[in-house]
Amino acid sequence: MTAPFIMLVDDEVPFVETIAKRLGKRNINTISAFSGEEGIETLKKNTELDVIVLDVKMPGMDGLETLAEIKKVSPLIEVIMLTGHGTMESAIDGMKLGAFDYLMKPCDIEDLVSKIEAASQKKREHEEKIEEAKKQKTLSKYGPFYYA
Ligand SMILES: [Mg+2]
Repeated sequence: MTAPFIMLVDDEVPFVETIAKRLGKRNINTISAFSGEEGIETLKKNTELDVIVLDVKMPGMDGLETLAEIKKVSPLIEVIMLTGHGTMESAIDGMKLGAFDYLMKPCDIEDLVSKIEAASQKKREHEEKIEEAKKQKTLSKYGPFYYA
């Protein structure tokens, strides 16, 4: 599998910088945004992203609002919510809104890596199924000799 391409969205700058560096060492290409608004703008310019790791508690657009917007802009991207004490309820709501998984802060880097890899794989398999369905649709339209 080619390296997952992910975005970290979190208002805690030192946290984002540390995690991005650690993920980079583990063959995960990471870009960052420090607010929900910035995350959405960055997503629009990087539509090939596989996974977004999203903080629940941020000033301005919070994690849930950002999640809803991400799913509008790019429904196939998988989202992992980062939650802290007191924001567990939002993580549960996020899962109901289509987040792939959640992690409690401060998060263990190995847990984060394995969730990112699983989310990335799910996203790519989902894309492959869509491609496969498109081929089937073409075949059913033009018959089996279309590719001959
Ligand atoms: Mg925060």
